[in-house]
Formats: sequence, structure tokens, C-alpha cells
Amino acid sequence: MSTSDSKRTVIVIGGGLAGVSAAHTLLQHGASVVLLDKKPSLGGNSVKASSGINGAGTEAQKANGIEDSVEAFIDDTTISAGSTLSRPHLIQALTSNSSSALSWLTSEFGVDLSLVARLGGHSIPRTHRGKGGAPGWAITSALIKKLEQAENAKVLKGAKVVRVLQEEDEKSGGRVVGVEYESVDSQGEKKAVNGSVVVATGGYGADFSGFLTQFRPDLLSLPTTNGDHATGDGHRLVLDLAGSRKGVLCDMDQIQVHPTGFVDPANPTSKTKFLAAEALRSVGGLLVDSAGERFVNELDRRDAVTEKMQQVIEAGKAPIRMVMNVKAYEVLKAHCDFYLAKGLMKKYPNAQALTEDTKLPLETLSKTFNAHAEFASGKAKDPFGKTNFDNAEYSVDETLFVAEMTPVVHYTMGGITIDAGAHVLDADGQKIPGLYAAGEVIGGVHGKNRLGGSSLLEAVVFGRLAGENAAKDA
Ligand SMILES: Cc1cc2nc3c(=O)[nH]c(=O)nc-3n(C[C@H](O)[C@H](O)[C@H](O)COP(=O)(O)OP(=O)(O)OC[C@H]3O[C@@H](n4cnc5c(N)ncnc54)[C@H](O)[C@@H]3O)c2cc1C
Repeated sequence: MSTSDSKRTVIVIGGGLAGVSAAHTLLQHGASVVLLDKKPSLGGNSVKASSGINGAGTEAQKANGIEDSVEAFIDDTTISAGSTLSRPHLIQALTSNSSSALSWLTSEFGVDLSLVARLGGHSIPRTHRGKGGAPGWAITSALIKKLEQAENAKVLKGAKVVRVLQEEDEKSGGRVVGVEYESVDSQGEKKAVNGSVVVATGGYGADFSGFLTQFRPDLLSLPTTNGDHATGDGHRLVLDLAGSRKGVLCDMDQIQVHPTGFVDPANPTSKTKFLAAEALRSVGGLLVDSAGERFVNELDRRDAVTEKMQQVIEAGKAPIRMVMNVKAYEVLKAHCDFYLAKGLMKKYPNAQALTEDTKLPLETLSKTFNAHAEFASGKAKDPFGKTNFDNAEYSVDETLFVAEMTPVVHYTMGGITIDAGAHVLDADGQKIPGLYAAGEVIGGVHGKNRLGGSSLLEAVVFGRLAGENAAKDA
């Protein structure tokens, strides 16, 4: 590809959900697209997402009799983001575009988002998924498939972007005019593509020797759920821009540690872990310590559950396990069958068998189950504050599905500073001409804690905004 391609070409760096959402929006607005991804296949972390995507006021909520509003979603997101780090303009953009983002996925790409669950920190059920497999895969693969067939889109795989190019002329204000990349088969030779640029390279949740060392050395001992592509490349690309028109990063020390990563019994020390979807707790999964006692409201926000887990670990009461009954298993059968097949989750015919295998005391388990049923029925109040109970009746005589859990580095809230239209801003808060960013690479949308389901949403909403604005610019 030469540097003299069409003026209407926009370059998208990264083929996760943010990148492919931007790419489709660009095509819908008449631009042509060159999308580059450093990996041999597209999808990034997006294809791993297992709980779902948030939306307020959606058709699926209405069909399920759920009343929700943008205002309620704003309130939940603002509380989760925290008073000092919440940014109302970004929260407004995320939430007010949520319903239209989900309609776009269903109407343009035929994605099924008909099931709605309530994840931790949400006051109303608003996390959508379909009846098939994992929602991240269902959504992202539908967009990838359509993009790879599109006439005006060129997808370059194994193409790592190493530099964003700018006009040197002072009057142009440092306009971004293309990228330089290395392709796996070019043996180090660099090539260039011309056009405005959307950065959609994902987060830095696997960048242990880089940003995590710099900003959160306390997390270096934890495993991660992220793929090895998540090394903060886009963050560095905008920091490396010339002169005063370089991008700025915000909230880089804000890293989400997810409470529930699977400890694989076959490889317990592996640095990369499968995520135990938050949906498992939302359908009734219980967390118990090595004494068989609950210690937390399983449906609390991720940061709160993680904090309690860390206290349990420090108190010497690990391992922590998730226990699911048959009803909870049946709601998420596809998920659980996958975890069972991978050996991450084990099925026991009853609590006695669980006790024999794990030494979890049967008597305490029985008390834990009975107490939980009492809290659910309203006869007593849960000391940990749980107020929503699904599939809450557990019996020591029924089949149980059990897995060992560890906190894991999961999502990076920090990133590139943008405005509510996905324009990348410089240190003076001015738009850098020709440069946009979307998805996990952007910073500030979630403040100190991201709500489950809001990252796939961020990818689609800001991907679409970036695509729309970059198309005007092309
Ligand atoms: C296991 C797991 C489960 C999750 N579950 C959920 C969930 O249920 N709901 C939810 O909302 N969120 C969930 N998340 C978070 C969510 O999946 C991600 O934050 C989101 O998908 C990020 O999308 P993205 O497009 O920004 O980045 P990614 O999907 O990570 O894509 C980034 C792409 O950029 C490419 N890239 C990086 N650097 C370069 C470069 N230099 N040149 C070219 N290409 C480059 C990468 O190869 C990658 O393909 C989950 C995350 C994980 C890890």
C-alpha cells in the first residue's frame, strides 16, 4: 500500500469491537477503510467478553418488562466512577447512546441480545446477551465477518502500527495524516498508509513490564485475563506524537482487578487466567472461603468484591470458591459446560462429594446454604447486604458446580484523553486534527471502577462516534 491512496480513506488501528464498530460506521458514511491489526486474527479481548453489553431503555428490556432510563444508568455509572474521577460528559455520551448502539448491533448485524441480566453495581437489569454462546464472540465475530466482505474495506492482519504520521507544516496544527506499520511478512521493512486515524488498540492489562510496572507495581504479582496484545501500544503512539500536539493520558493508575478469575487446577500458577463471568454470580453463584462461609455480597461492585476477597486471602482463608446450584447452572449452561470441558469447573453429585474432594466442611456449607435461603425469602437480612436473589435455594443433596477463584487484572480504566466525540485531545484540551480513539484505549469514561457490561458498550458507542466524526474529516 502506498502513501498516495484515496483522500477518503480512514485508518483504523485494531480489530477488536471498537475498531470494527468504527470501521462499519466509516463505511456507512461513505469513507473507505484500512484496518490494521498486529495479530494474525481480529477480535482482541472483545471476543472473550462473557457477560454482555449494557443498554438502558432497550427493546429487549421492554420485552422483558424492565423499566430503565438513561438517568438511572448515569447515576449507577457516576457512583461507580467515584466523585473525583467521574466525567459527566463522557458518561452522558456512553449512556445516552447505549440503546441506539444495541439497536444498531441487532438491526445491522443480526446479533441476538434478547436476554437481560443484572450485574454488580447496576440498580436495574441492563446487561444484554443472546441465547447462543459468549456475547463478546457473538457480537464481534458478526461485525468482523461483515467487514471482511465489505467492498471498501481492506483488512491487514499481522500488521503492527509503530508510528502515527503528522504533517510537519506548523499551520496544519500537527494534523495526523497516516500510520507506519511493520508487517509480519515484511521482515522489519516499514510501510505507510495515508488517512485520518482511529486508534482502537485496546488496553494495557497485559503490559506487566511497561505501564503496570510504571503505574501499579502492587499488581505485578496478579494474573491477567487479557490477551498478550494488550500492551498499551495506542497509548504510546499518541504520546510519541510530535511537539505540543501530542496526546495525553489520564487515570493510568486506575486498573480494574476482577474478583473472579478461574484457577486452573492443571496449571494453577499460569499468568493468564480465564475469566469467571460476572453473570455466574448474577444468576446465583455463591462465593465461599476455605471454611465454607460466605464473606461478601456477591452482587456488589467489582472493586468491593475484590477488596473482600483480598481480606479473606490475607486472613489465610483461601482458597476462595464459587459454588453454583443446578438452577443457576441451567441459566448459564453454555458458559458452564465450556468451563467444565476446560477443567476449570468441577461437577459434584452433592456437598458430601465436594467435602471429600476439597475439605470444605459439610456442616458449615449446610449452614451457609440454609442462611442464604432465609435471606432470599426475607426471613432474615443478609449481613453482607445482598438484596437481589436469583436461584437462591441451595441444598447439600443436589448437584453442585464448583471452581476456585482468584482476583485478576482485567480492565484498564486509564487511557487516551478524548472529548465526547472521540476526538483525541492534546495537553491544552485542543482536538488533534485527524486523530480519534475508541474502546479500552480511551481513558476517563469509567473513573475508578468500570461497571460490568460497559466496556463492550464503550467500544461500540465511541467506535461509532469516532467513525462518524472521522468520516466528516476524511
Ligand atoms: C475475559 C474477558 C471478559 C470480558 N467480559 C466483558 C463483558 O462481558 N462485558 C464487557 O462490557 N466487557 C468485557 N470485557 C472487557 C472488554 O471485552 C474489552 O474491554 C473490550 O472488548 C475492548 O475492546 P477494544 O476493541 O477496545 O480492544 P480489543 O478487543 O482488545 O482489541 C484491540 C485490538 O488492537 C490490536 N492492536 C493492539 N496494538 C496494535 C498495534 N500496534 N497495531 C495494530 N493492532 C494493534 C490488538 O491485536 C487487538 O486485536 C472482558 C474482557 C476480558 C479480557
